Amino acid sequence: MKQETIRHSLAHLLAYAVSELYPGIKFGIGPAIKNGFYYDFDFKNPISNEDLPKIENKMKELIKQNIVFKKKNVSKNEAKKIFKNQPYKLELIKELPGKIVSIYQSGEFLDLCKGPHIKSTKEINAEAFKLTKTAGAYWRGNEKNPMLTRIYGLAFDTKKELEEFLKKEKEAEKRDHRILGQKLELFMFDEEIGAGLPLWMPKGEILRHIIEEYLYEELKKAGYQWVRTPHLGNLNLWKTSGHWELYRENMYSPIEIENEKYLIKPMNCPFHVKIYQSKIISYKNLPIKYAELGTVYRYEKSGVLHGLTRVRGFTQDDAHIFCTPEQLTEEVEELLCHGFKIFETFGFKEFNIYLSTRPEKYAGTIKGWEKATNVLKYVLKKLKIKYQVDAGGGVFYGPKIDIKIKDSLGREWQCTTIQVDFNLPKRFNITFINNKGKKEKVYMIHRALLGSMERFIGVLLEHYAGALPFWLSSEQIWLIPVGSQHIEYAREVSEKIQGLQIRDVIKDENETVSKKIREGEIKKIPYLLVVGDKEMKNKTVRVRERGKGDIGEMELEKFLKGLEI
Ligand SMILES: [Zn+2]
Ligand SMILES: [Zn+2]
Repeated sequence: MKQETIRHSLAHLLAYAVSELYPGIKFGIGPAIKNGFYYDFDFKNPISNEDLPKIENKMKELIKQNIVFKKKNVSKNEAKKIFKNQPYKLELIKELPGKIVSIYQSGEFLDLCKGPHIKSTKEINAEAFKLTKTAGAYWRGNEKNPMLTRIYGLAFDTKKELEEFLKKEKEAEKRDHRILGQKLELFMFDEEIGAGLPLWMPKGEILRHIIEEYLYEELKKAGYQWVRTPHLGNLNLWKTSGHWELYRENMYSPIEIENEKYLIKPMNCPFHVKIYQSKIISYKNLPIKYAELGTVYRYEKSGVLHGLTRVRGFTQDDAHIFCTPEQLTEEVEELLCHGFKIFETFGFKEFNIYLSTRPEKYAGTIKGWEKATNVLKYVLKKLKIKYQVDAGGGVFYGPKIDIKIKDSLGREWQCTTIQVDFNLPKRFNITFINNKGKKEKVYMIHRALLGSMERFIGVLLEHYAGALPFWLSSEQIWLIPVGSQHIEYAREVSEKIQGLQIRDVIKDENETVSKKIREGEIKKIPYLLVVGDKEMKNKTVRVRERGKGDIGEMELEKFLKGLEI
């Protein structure tokens, strides 16, 4: 709370400094945010990041003056007079309830604000804040309103914390999957196609394919059956499932085909339910596990779209498990263990686990919720997994476990959800024949492990800063012949490499060796093998390993044996 108050007070000081440096400026609002604060301004002449040090220095001057924050309650009429040249403030005053509004005075600067604030700038550590960037922001987030300039600042308790944060941010910037995706030619976006709709380029598709193939095999071994379902479904289906009623704001408008309405699917669940329903299922057949790499489309505001991690169309590694009530515990346990094993294969070992419980609006009975929640708790405890409870954070149809993976920078990424569902089995009336020959409601578990292919690949790129493990690299080895007379030998080597199902490329363009090496390093190729006279004569290769550089001349067989394949 204290930190938030300091951050918000810094926002006032930012506005104060700006008003001193740019007379006649119009003010928007300036709240505290995570790690800092911002303030929105309407500048006569737009400013840029280069102007920030000047403003920051002015703020530091103000802080030194031990400026006091004073709260005053004034009538709305008085407030209107005070802010007569501030159209945005006037708009806010008009909308505030009651007749009295509170304002804060710090030095010459007055702001409409309900507080709280620090007593004086003595409480601020002038070394522990920094203005970071400017950005355009519509007044009140509405694109019909004027575009204001938002100045962002960071603020911490100590200079050390600020420096550490900046360092981490810089590291994160280097790992930005949007930039890496372009540099490594994995995926792209195109304005004419539309926002949030990624295109997978050849190398990106190879990466996806590697992951998909791995999942196909891995899930098959774990007893899943792969299915595939269409991208559209009749509106009636979505009415039955409850999506039309409860999930409509995330779906795109219906498409009309022969007087019937169809919706693009935001989820795969109802389709899998239909496959389950196509046969009479005995308890002896359960559990049944259907898996699909199902591409779904959900409405996201354009402002929140972000590279691959927030998109409008994505492919879930989705699965639905149908089981008897008695099997629920075992299935959840298996799911979790299997999930951790898969994550480990991709190099993730640390997780934060959340258990989300019954929200205000819910389907099913309290008793049912308790039972399912207890199953989830029991499994977490049995596996000795530490978790946090997100009270009321469950989806309307059942409690869930979320797994957030921690990347190499310690950042959390939401990937897995495991949800127990009371809603769909009831709505679609899906049953099995129990051991007494009677129909009984089946239990249904939804689970997406990686979450979506798009998001997961984004996370992988950030985790590894683009230097993906050997098995995930779309181009694993580059062969670099020194001169044209070595191309033939490079081809010989290539044949042997391909015999081991390794993906290689012969770089026979007319470029210098050093240029090719540099390019290979930029593209984060795991191994660059240079072959010239000596290597051709000795039947060897000169190996450059990613991150290590030249590791010497080696017999090809020996090099290939040493690869982790
Ligand atoms: Zn304030
Ligand atoms: Zn589902």
